[in-house]
Amino acid sequence: MSGDALGAAHGAAHGAAGAAPDWAAVARDLERDTGVRAAPDRPLADFTTMRVGGPADLVAIAEDAAALAALVRFARLRRLPHTIMGRGSDLVIADTGVRGLVILCRADACRVDGARLVAESGLPLARAATLAQKAGLAGLEFGLAIPGTVGGAVWANAGAHGSDVASVLESVDVLRADGTERTDPADSLDLAYRDSRFKHAAGEGSAAGRGAAEVILAATFRLVPDDDAAIKARMDEIRRWRREHQPLSLPSAGSVFRNPPGDSAGRLIDACGLKGRRVGGAEVSRKHANFIVNAAGASASDVRGLAETVRAEVARQFGTKLEYEVQFVGDWPEQTQEVA
Ligand SMILES: Cc1cc2nc3c(=O)[nH]c(=O)nc-3n(C[C@H](O)[C@H](O)[C@H](O)COP(=O)(O)OP(=O)(O)OC[C@H]3O[C@@H](n4cnc5c(N)ncnc54)[C@H](O)[C@@H]3O)c2cc1C
Repeated sequence: MSGDALGAAHGAAHGAAGAAPDWAAVARDLERDTGVRAAPDRPLADFTTMRVGGPADLVAIAEDAAALAALVRFARLRRLPHTIMGRGSDLVIADTGVRGLVILCRADACRVDGARLVAESGLPLARAATLAQKAGLAGLEFGLAIPGTVGGAVWANAGAHGSDVASVLESVDVLRADGTERTDPADSLDLAYRDSRFKHAAGEGSAAGRGAAEVILAATFRLVPDDDAAIKARMDEIRRWRREHQPLSLPSAGSVFRNPPGDSAGRLIDACGLKGRRVGGAEVSRKHANFIVNAAGASASDVRGLAETVRAEVARQFGTKLEYEVQFVGDWPEQTQEVA
């Protein structure tokens, strides 16, 4: 059955052409077709580390990779805008929320196979690091520092402490835009500094267009056998360093800006005297200038407004146009649409 035919078959949930879908009806259809329950009009702030943002029209939780694929296929067939979220640690949700279906990826099955760790995309990277350590496999220690999922980490080629996903990733299982599933080797993913081909998929950057993007179902990491106590000692050191240098007691989305070539965004922001600068409840961290923290009930527009202020000030004082590392997701007002 074609997408159009299927859309027509399920048309009852959509109402008249152009009208907003009846999300309660979509939720019923979604449960019938995928077995996954979905909640209409669900606030998203608590599903993000920045703790800001409004509701999604519909939220569904994928508990395994098969459910993740089924939910995405359901949304694609109906041409519903849909957004995948891992732990929401690299994004800021708009105060007005996100239109369409938000799929929270909690698919977290994991197994160790020789020197390989195979994980579904919703496994927290820190848990992957701990499982690898317990199996006496080195290479994922840096993952302890990253409060996101395996899927989010591959998407961004997350990294820390001199390593990144690219250094240990062997392959990923992908649900492609044409609906097929494939295992792609890491060297086909264009992994670079906080970058991958997933970030540049067709349609990426708009809520509706996100539907065309590829979905990461699982990842295989190639690790190196090592003494588990030695691995644990390295992880303890990473934990200590993070506590000392990052504002971990306040909500944030990690580094707001990418480091410009040969420099550090934090250094530039600090040199502008912006540590402690506030907009509403959002504050430039006094501990790490490239972090914006939710210091006191910030709104998403406080965070965005402060980020834009920082960006303008760095451009004014240094002539450097910082690019965003975090993503602004959802219905942002027109004047703030531009994301470098
Ligand atoms: C305190 C703190 C410290 C941090 N430190 C670091 C650091 O040292 N290094 C670093 O690199 N990052 C760091 N981050 C940022 C963040 O944790 C990483 O980018 C992480 O990889 C994001 O994963 P996530 O699951 O939260 O993704 P989300 O924020 O939920 O999503 C990010 C993007 O990935 C996409 N995505 C997520 N899962 C999938 C999937 N299965 N398939 C397709 N697309 C998907 C989403 O659609 C979205 O576009 C930090 C964040 C915080 C809050």
